[in-house]
Amino acid sequence: MSDAAIQAPARRGRSVRYRLLAIALLPFLVVVPLLLALVIGRLNTKFDALLITKVNGDLTIAHQYFARILENTSDHIRALGESAAFRTIAAENSKPRLSDWLEESRKELGLDFLNILEDDGTLLATAPQTSEARSRRDWPVIVSAMAGTPSTAVDIFSAAELGAISERLAERARVELVPTTNAVPTDKTVETRGMVVHSASPVQLAQGRRAVLVGGILLNQNLVFIDTINDLVYRQASLPEGSQGTATLFLDDVRISTNVRLFEGRRALGTRVSATVRQAVLGEGRTWLDSAFVVNDWYISAYEPISDSYGKRVGMLYVGFLETPFRHEKLITLATIVGAFLFVTVLSVPIFLRWARAIFRPLEQMTDTISRVEGGDLDARTSLPAARDEIGRVATHLDELLDRLQARDRQLRGWNEELNKRVAERTRELEAANKELELTTKQLVMSEKLAAIGEITAGVAHEINNPVAVIQGNLDVVRQVLGSQVQLASTEFRLIDEQIHRIEDIVTRLLQFARPEEFAGYVERHAPREVIEHCLPLVQHLLNRAGIGIVEDHRATGLVLMNRTELLQVLVNLIVNAIHAMPSGGTVTLRDFDEDRQGTPGIVIEVADTGIGMDAETLARIFDPFFTTKSRQGTGLGLSISQKLILRQGGAISAISETGRGTRFLIWLPQSL
Ligand code: ADP
Ligand code: MG
Repeated sequence: MSDAAIQAPARRGRSVRYRLLAIALLPFLVVVPLLLALVIGRLNTKFDALLITKVNGDLTIAHQYFARILENTSDHIRALGESAAFRTIAAENSKPRLSDWLEESRKELGLDFLNILEDDGTLLATAPQTSEARSRRDWPVIVSAMAGTPSTAVDIFSAAELGAISERLAERARVELVPTTNAVPTDKTVETRGMVVHSASPVQLAQGRRAVLVGGILLNQNLVFIDTINDLVYRQASLPEGSQGTATLFLDDVRISTNVRLFEGRRALGTRVSATVRQAVLGEGRTWLDSAFVVNDWYISAYEPISDSYGKRVGMLYVGFLETPFRHEKLITLATIVGAFLFVTVLSVPIFLRWARAIFRPLEQMTDTISRVEGGDLDARTSLPAARDEIGRVATHLDELLDRLQARDRQLRGWNEELNKRVAERTRELEAANKELELTTKQLVMSEKLAAIGEITAGVAHEINNPVAVIQGNLDVVRQVLGSQVQLASTEFRLIDEQIHRIEDIVTRLLQFARPEEFAGYVERHAPREVIEHCLPLVQHLLNRAGIGIVEDHRATGLVLMNRTELLQVLVNLIVNAIHAMPSGGTVTLRDFDEDRQGTPGIVIEVADTGIGMDAETLARIFDPFFTTKSRQGTGLGLSISQKLILRQGGAISAISETGRGTRFLIWLPQSL
């Protein structure tokens, strides 16, 4: 999971790089090769078409040459028949002379045979000499000549017919068949027929006899003929180096004259054309223009059918040139183009990569900066040189944004601190308020409690007062009844009186606590010193008993406003408590002095002892009603009543104590002017 998260940005970066590469190189790496392929393909087609056009032109030349041979033969024979020499010799009517002249003319014209055939088919004279007396006279060329029109055509002579002319001719015509792959299967092993340029022209003999001058050229193995065609068609330097022009004459599908070489330079006579070409040219009479496998190599080939005087397709004329050098050239061209392309590609890709790096490096730097910022480094910046392009501007912008972000962050932190401070402050205030509330609640609870206790104690006190009054009344009756006898139980009577007095005192105090207002007498102004001095005799016997000394220090200048009895009661309470706290003697200090509290002038009366003191827990509860640590002696009401009385006069009472060292009670009362 975390690995993927770490790798994700890297992959993203790479993908941007590759996408950039793809965008830039796609046209080059895809479109250019496509275009190249298209152009090369088109060039190839054009080139092939051009080759076909050339071979077609070559075939035309060969065809014309072949036609020329026929025409020339025709012209020669006609001219011969019409020549003065012939007329002279014909007039002589001497057969040997005619034969000699024919032989001479045949050699001169390069013919293979030259005969004079009479109307009835009798051979008047022949060259070369032969023993034959008659000859076929149904050849179309002869029939035409007999009828008076010179005629020339290609004819196929059988071996017998050739033999009748001369054994040598028959021998020359004979071509052994060479087994050839792709050719139409055959049982024949030898071709004995001859392809002949056959020409006949009418001549006039002595006594007006009509005859025909017949001449012919055997084309089988006529190498002069085929080499001439080849030289004519493929003149020196008309083909690229390494190529080779070829020309062939076919009788049926057999090469009877060719310059195509077999192995070891032997001419490929007797080999045969492929079945495909044979079917197209001989079978259908079409001209074949295409690449074809000739003997042992591929040639750009042109074949055309040759028809005999009967109009029958009897052979083919072929020209062509070796394809290999052209293919070679083509391949070299292709390789050059592809090579050039690859070279340019290999050269340009690194250059492009350098350019691309200039683009994606700032991007990477930005990504890096962002991830650093995300990682908490707010000081991270791209710090790219000033904006030169869009990306540079984006980077500058990013830096500016980061600056602003940092500033905001600082501001936020500041605010946060401020907020925290305020929260703490408020919390403190709240705590203080809570404490106050707690205190108020406590006080409220206390006043509730006091109110309830007041109700109860008031009732109880009245209920006790009545029986006590009855007891007192009855005791008086008992005294009167006893008269002087009373002396006998004077001690017991005194104790009973004392305890009754004590009950009355407690009840009075309870009522005073419960309903102090009922007991509030009139208030007067007193000097504290005077009140203190007045209360001392009340407790003198207690002080004496416990061996406690009194120290007085009077400094107060003003007067306090309070009911005299109440103030006396408060002071007596405090002095009695002090005496209780010093069971084994000590000193009570009574002090008064002026003190302002919250701008109000007042007087403090202090009662301090050197007694046992109090712990904090006790100190906190001393003003609670009924709180006492004196199990049997105490009522726990002394201090709470004292506090009530002082508070009613707008004053305050407080205590400072330390266990083992003593306690100081401070009564503050506003000064009365
Ligand atoms: P009481 O005297 O009946 O116990 P008070 O209200 O007068 O009731 O006093 C309450 C309690 O305060 C006393 O029980 C005592 O524990 C304590 N106290 C008062 N004055 C002193 C003092 N001067 N030194 C020590 N403890 C004192
Ligand atoms: Mg007391």
